[in-house]
Amino acid sequence: MNRYREFHRRSVEDPTSFWREQAQRIHWETPFTQVLDDSRLPFARWFVGGRTNLCYNALDRHLSERAEQAALIYVSTETGIERTYTYAQLHAEVNRMAAVMLSLGAKRGERVLIYMPMMAEALFAMLACARIGAIHSMVFGGFAAHSLAARIDDAQPVLIVAADAGSRAGKVIDYLPLLEEALALALHKPPQVLLVERHLTPPHALGAQLQHRVARYAAMREQQAGADVPCAWLESNEVSYVLYTSGTTGKPKGVQRDVGGYAVALASSIDYIFDGKPGDTMFTASDVGWVVGHSYIVYAPLLAGMTTVMYEGTPIRPDGGVWWRLVEQYKINLMFTAPTAIRVLKKQDPALLHQYDLSSLRTLFLAGEPLDEPTARWIQDALQKPVVDNYWQTETGWPMLAIQKNVEALPQKLGSPGVPVYGFNLSVRNELTGEPCAAGEKGVITLAAPLPPGAMQTVWRDDSRFISTYWSGFPAKLLYSSFDWGIQDENGYVTILGRTDDVINVAGHRLGTREIEESLSGHPAVAEVAVVGIHDALKGQVAIAFVVPREAQAAEQAEARRGLESELMKTVDSTLGTIARPARVFFVGVLPKTRSGKLLRRALQALAEGRDPGDLTTLEDPLALQQARAALTGA
Ligand code: ATP
Ligand code: MG
Repeated sequence: MNRYREFHRRSVEDPTSFWREQAQRIHWETPFTQVLDDSRLPFARWFVGGRTNLCYNALDRHLSERAEQAALIYVSTETGIERTYTYAQLHAEVNRMAAVMLSLGAKRGERVLIYMPMMAEALFAMLACARIGAIHSMVFGGFAAHSLAARIDDAQPVLIVAADAGSRAGKVIDYLPLLEEALALALHKPPQVLLVERHLTPPHALGAQLQHRVARYAAMREQQAGADVPCAWLESNEVSYVLYTSGTTGKPKGVQRDVGGYAVALASSIDYIFDGKPGDTMFTASDVGWVVGHSYIVYAPLLAGMTTVMYEGTPIRPDGGVWWRLVEQYKINLMFTAPTAIRVLKKQDPALLHQYDLSSLRTLFLAGEPLDEPTARWIQDALQKPVVDNYWQTETGWPMLAIQKNVEALPQKLGSPGVPVYGFNLSVRNELTGEPCAAGEKGVITLAAPLPPGAMQTVWRDDSRFISTYWSGFPAKLLYSSFDWGIQDENGYVTILGRTDDVINVAGHRLGTREIEESLSGHPAVAEVAVVGIHDALKGQVAIAFVVPREAQAAEQAEARRGLESELMKTVDSTLGTIARPARVFFVGVLPKTRSGKLLRRALQALAEGRDPGDLTTLEDPLALQQARAALTGA
């Protein structure tokens, strides 16, 4: 571990010299004069005075060597479109999009809200913003009207770039009524809406809000053939984007990110953590509306001169082999997705995996939620490739816990995303005193200031919320709280035990819902599970579990259900003890999740306690709550 330890130590003890070296990975039009300005912590400024541009580094810089190399492979199993763009072609598309945006009033420092599904134009629009210095704010395509309206009011965009429709699992979603309603609800009225039409819905008239705002992309693009839009050279600390967190725990926060620090952090992490090399092909099966999509679909692979694969569709349509078909066809080297996708695939016939030649694939990366051991083992055995968990947040922009293979190829520890990543001064601390926990002791995962390059600068337009939300957990200590609960072993490996909100207290014993979920998911009949703590008059709280059985029939009849319930309770008894045993196990077909695949435990908990489930704007599938409600009432 010595190499890793020394590398990490230098990154946090001597950040100036460490990051000065890493900054050489990108092009600076004007060199920076100061690596780190830490005079106003927790607000940190990286590479002060340096001028650069994310789009220049992602595209223009590669043109001399890689103009004919694929930059973007776009695959949609929803529409049947499959298209490859070389670096030269992608550069041309982004220039056309940038010219269109400029003609509609987008400018350096102004916000452009992008409301699009996984279509190539979403990536063009992001890079076009980066090119002209406009600040993009991505919102998952198809998000409910009032959550879109809330983001319009917070970001105050001068322009919305929107698709007219999306498609999920073969079902077309018309975005126009959602946009129309959001524009009516929002107090801020963006002057222009650039509509990228997909012709998935029958043509229909526009509503009053859209009518006088809409410009149509297809026609405007035609007029911009050969457009050549200069890159705006931004000071490193100007804003590249604002992205709202998933809203798993409550009201989403507008995470604001810089330009230079982000470019440097991604260029270094794609090498040290992901082992991405120029010319490699990376398939990040995520969404551009989520931070993983920003960092590892769009920016990092392109900064590194790689080919990025962008995919619209589910992992199981037309069948559960579709991703592996893509690996074979496009000789994909690196894959990155969320554990939730693997749990979906786990329910499919494993033979589907073995139909394809996966020899190009080196590693599968997973992030976004706890990776339980049974799922990790299943996919590792099925693929016969390393599966690398990594832990981070919208706020950090890139992983803060991971095995950093190209620093030192440390062994993996199943159930742990690994050790602190260079740049992150991470420690597990007692949630009351803020003192570091001993090895093996549970506490809150914290980061000492300054946050490294690429991490959030502040909450958009709300510096005081940045301080009060993240930096006020430990009086007299300047520590960032992740609101995740973890445990670090004597070798530095951290295991995430769940969110601090998800800790339950049963008769004075503190239990992480993750521990109970992990125990239940070890049972062969369990595909997915969510555990929440609910109020109990006697014990304070008790755990209850919602389980998606691997085979639907397993819990169809009342008797089978009771049998499985008591078997599952025994599983927990034997792994964690009776104190952790769920008081009830409910069977459902689907669990409530956010669009980024995270379990909405707070909604389940509220339902079970008979409370209003609260803000559900980020909920993926409303059916999930109906099922939970039905299971709870025994209907
Ligand atoms: P909000 O903060 O608005 O409630 P959110 O926390 O769900 O939303 P994200 O930034 O998308 O928004 O998610 C980050 C969280 O996801 C982490 O704080 C952690 O709880 C969880 N997470 C991410 N990666 C992992 C991982 N590898 N293992 C365990 N948990 C993870
Ligand atoms: Mg969060």
